[in-house]
Amino acid sequence: MTAPSYHLSFDKYYDHLVRVHLEFIAPIDHVRLWLPTWIAGSYLVREFSKHIAQVSYVINNTHHIAQKTSKNTYVLPHTHQHDKVSVHYDVYCHDLSVRTAFVDSTRLFGNFTSLLMMVSSLEQNLCNITLSVPKAFLQKNPNATLAIGLPYDTHTHDDGVDFILNNIAAFDSYDYPFEISQQTYFDFNVKTNARPVHHRFFITGRHNTNIHRLSDDVQMICQSYVDWLGDVPFDDYTFMTVATGSEYGGLEHISSTALITPRTDLPSILEQDEPSADYQRFLGLCSHEYFHAWWVKSVRPDVMMDNDLTAESYTPLLWVFEGFTSYIDDLMLLRAGVISKDSYLKLITAQLNRYAQTDGKAHQSVAESSFDAWIKLYRPDENTTNQSISYYNKGALVALILDLMLIKHGHRLFDVIKHFYDLSKHTSNKRYGLTTDELGKVISKMMGADNWQDFYDNYIIGTKDLPIQTLLSPHNITIITKDRAKQWGMTYKDDPLGLKISHLQRDSVASRAGLSVGDVIIAIDSIKASKDQLNRTIALTGDDICVHVFRRDELMVFDVKAGKLSRHSEYFLSGDGGAWLDFG
Ligand SMILES: [Zn+2]
Repeated sequence: MTAPSYHLSFDKYYDHLVRVHLEFIAPIDHVRLWLPTWIAGSYLVREFSKHIAQVSYVINNTHHIAQKTSKNTYVLPHTHQHDKVSVHYDVYCHDLSVRTAFVDSTRLFGNFTSLLMMVSSLEQNLCNITLSVPKAFLQKNPNATLAIGLPYDTHTHDDGVDFILNNIAAFDSYDYPFEISQQTYFDFNVKTNARPVHHRFFITGRHNTNIHRLSDDVQMICQSYVDWLGDVPFDDYTFMTVATGSEYGGLEHISSTALITPRTDLPSILEQDEPSADYQRFLGLCSHEYFHAWWVKSVRPDVMMDNDLTAESYTPLLWVFEGFTSYIDDLMLLRAGVISKDSYLKLITAQLNRYAQTDGKAHQSVAESSFDAWIKLYRPDENTTNQSISYYNKGALVALILDLMLIKHGHRLFDVIKHFYDLSKHTSNKRYGLTTDELGKVISKMMGADNWQDFYDNYIIGTKDLPIQTLLSPHNITIITKDRAKQWGMTYKDDPLGLKISHLQRDSVASRAGLSVGDVIIAIDSIKASKDQLNRTIALTGDDICVHVFRRDELMVFDVKAGKLSRHSEYFLSGDGGAWLDFG
């Protein structure tokens, strides 16, 4: 059977279109095509097919239109088994995030989940993929290179250049994002017992990065992971980064990661020995996505062993995968020696304060937060922090307390993770599907079944206060708590008319008075609303304060109780960290 071949033409980059041409031999009559609705690592149904207008196909020089049978599936009614079929469609690609695809005059980026339709029953067949870059794009970007965590051939011709990926299982392409643009890149090797492992780090977009500094720091971080975990679950690793004004994010893949970062998070030539908070954030992102190669790609939630990318894949375990990773990512910056203990304590303090200020901690467990990622975490609204928590944020803190409990029994969280990674190496597909039961069994052996059960009942499926202070104090950590007043229990944004309410705490001074999210406060105590006027009046006692607002286009008046403030705690951590932060 001829291998299916995909040809992606970027000659309409200026209209943000990728023209896809797919050829294959029909495996059956009435062939079916489908496109994913979500991408692994980002738990939201994103409906990639909404960016495709029409799918047409040709058999024996006759043109036909594919028939749509659901939001992301098509049938080719005129196909018969063994026909040579040629399918055409355009994909609109103008989402800057790392989860979809984006093409313009400077950058051709894509996840194949947004671009390549699978031929039903040929998903595992080897295919060829050609990325065809037109001359016009190369004239604007003369040094454009391809970043992708796969080997490829290059073919230069009169109309441009083709990058060709040979013999990849069609479905597997979904884990290899690509980027073609003017890239800065550097290479480094990470030492393993068996061999040095090549890594390449690409940066594109406008930036002025201190490459030597970045290279040194990233290499130290990667080496620390390998020193701990023993080896690597890939042959070669690719970081691809686009620098922009303010966007932030990353997505993990089998042998690569796609990152988007504010350019101010990249190190400059003026970078001090201790990385700035912004640069620490970027190093933390690199550390986070890199670790996922072991912890999400090799060891996975059991339901994600073979992802069905057309429907939600529910798991209560994202607290283990994203939570442990969110704890380990920063801890490894310290273990690798790229940040100081003081910096590390500031990072964990920020996690703690974010959690302390999330009222939803009383209403949603971290296991529920994991399960409901599909409808809650990726779809935040003004009510989110009142009823939900993040499995990244609470997940990192439960990882911290689990690590501290394990230390009391002579173990570390590092040992738990390495145990499961070692198991993944002995499976046929190098993947291990983790369940809560398996995790519990291994941790119970280390710290006792009762301790595991208490931990699980209270903090994973329960919403009990986390015993962070109790567990940190034996490690010479002092926690100071300060009581902070939140102005009327609301957050707001400046608005031309005054202050626009973006969030209200439940049962707060503002909500009890009748104020609502979306209201624009125009006057407080009969003076034009401003941050200063709000600060002056919240200190008043005695009479109620008269507040004028526009709700939509209607003027309303409310009386806010003076002197009643909504409060929350703020924590400050200091100290040495003892055995917790001692990596020898
Ligand atoms: Zn992650």
